[in-house]
Amino acid sequence: MQHARRIGGETVMRPSPISCSVDLEADGVQHGHLQLPHSRDDSAWGAIMIPITVAKNGDGPTVLVTGANHGDEYEGPLALVEFANQVCAKDLSGRVIIVPFMNMPAFASGTRTSPIDKGNMNRAFPGRPDGTVTEKIADYFQRHLLPLADLVLDFHSGGGTLDFLPFAASHILEDKDQEARCRAARDAFNAPFSLDMVEIDSMGMYDDAAERMGKTFVTTELGGGATTTPETVAIARKGLRNVLIHAGVLSGVPDHAPSRMLTQNDPGCFHFSPADGMIEYRHGLGADVAKGDLIARIWNTQHTGHPAIDIHAKTHGVLVTRHAKGLIQHGDCLAVLAQIDL
Ligand SMILES: [Zn+2]
Repeated sequence: MQHARRIGGETVMRPSPISCSVDLEADGVQHGHLQLPHSRDDSAWGAIMIPITVAKNGDGPTVLVTGANHGDEYEGPLALVEFANQVCAKDLSGRVIIVPFMNMPAFASGTRTSPIDKGNMNRAFPGRPDGTVTEKIADYFQRHLLPLADLVLDFHSGGGTLDFLPFAASHILEDKDQEARCRAARDAFNAPFSLDMVEIDSMGMYDDAAERMGKTFVTTELGGGATTTPETVAIARKGLRNVLIHAGVLSGVPDHAPSRMLTQNDPGCFHFSPADGMIEYRHGLGADVAKGDLIARIWNTQHTGHPAIDIHAKTHGVLVTRHAKGLIQHGDCLAVLAQIDL
């Protein structure tokens, strides 16, 4: 299917099938939905309903905040539903657009990707108005929400398969002014760790879509295992408030604590599992690992009497990411190291 058609020699994008029940330009606090028609066996003329809150007071910057880009990550959604419940327009100068459950079908099923089309929202950008459900949601963000934003904050955590040291991240960008804006917003978030992030696969990412539009973009990884802790939820709530104050949208004084700066300046940061098996970590998240140290052992689960496969660190660094489950597959991300920026 074509997602654009030619009319009179010009290429015209098809309109999005999503409608928004709130007026994004009106002052005050409004709670509503993005409504995406979805005809299916259990609901012939049904729709996917994605909650949205817009809070606005006069002119000023717009901050777009999202959770559940991946459906099994909960710190962002928890911070955002609470904020949407408490926000008063009189405390704002500008606008906050809150979408706590960006990939609603994935969130509703507690899975990273959508059960409808297996779509990974963070690989679906720029999306398509006539594509899959996930591509239609991505297209709405690409053409209707991202253009409104000055600053974009997208919450992530490790989900069911990864666990992270809690960090806020910005990317290395070609436009150094934009990179500095992103870094300043990341530092304002003030997670316990702050990372100059290198992506292993940026194609189709929401991050990339926002950054290509010149937006100030901050992302996070705040824990994992498809659950939360009181500490990681507190980090998300504090970071949201700090970023809104930093953007000039929310009044108040930021809550600032020391944050350790990390970089990924070595291609040896990423470690992937060379086999299926049962994993035994020899270091915990946050451990300082030297090059050559034993990070983990993978035990054969088909045969006894086989030696474990030892995974040694390809570089030095702090263990910022680990596999969250006891069983691991060939090719799974096993460990990510990042270097302390002195
Ligand atoms: Zn994620």
